[in-house]
Amino acid sequence: MIRMLLIGPPGAGKGTQASRITEKHGIVAISTGDIFRQNVKNRTPLGQAAESYINAGKFVPDQITNDMVRDRLEQSDARDGFLLDGYPRTAAQVAFLDEILADKGHQLDVVLQIVVDPEELVHRLLKRAVSENRTDDTAEVIRERMALYFEQTTSVTALYGQRGLLTEVEGIGDVSDVAQRVSTALDVKLGASLPL
Ligand code: ADP
Repeated sequence: MIRMLLIGPPGAGKGTQASRITEKHGIVAISTGDIFRQNVKNRTPLGQAAESYINAGKFVPDQITNDMVRDRLEQSDARDGFLLDGYPRTAAQVAFLDEILADKGHQLDVVLQIVVDPEELVHRLLKRAVSENRTDDTAEVIRERMALYFEQTTSVTALYGQRGLLTEVEGIGDVSDVAQRVSTALDVKLGASLPL
């Protein structure tokens, strides 16, 4: 069982890679974006609180997001392992996740970053907008989400880099090529962290 984060810009194919990883390692995938969208769809109080931020391509405030993640990680399917996708995205969220894990005596095993050239990303997202009908996939909102990503993620990846947890994978190419690279990178990282 592993506890890991998946970090990548909008359109990097995180969802696809996440499902392959979770299948292989028998862990649950938790995507904060998916949880928010589900709540918006079901018109829950959480969804109503988050909706305007999501549709503007802005981050939902930390307090709302942090509470949601803590509740989700308390559920039994996440007890022994998880893949968190889309969280943490700010330094404050990193600190909050540290606390959640420390409370349980747990720690992260690996932070996987999928790296893709921004030009390629905009192209992919506009294509996805047509097929998935997401309300936040308009050109303007995509630009906003992209700018936010590059502005904020650097501080998050820098923190995990300092801790020696970060591993990067190039997200260009076929889904299966990327999956292969992801698999190799995880084996190297997890193998390296096994006790001798
Ligand atoms: P993408 O990575 O393609 O932008 P996500 O599905 O991860 O999309 O997230 C969609 C939206 O959900 C974000 O633009 C943001 O409004 C909200 N969101 C998701 N995760 C977080 C988070 N960790 N902190 C704040 N807002 C978040």
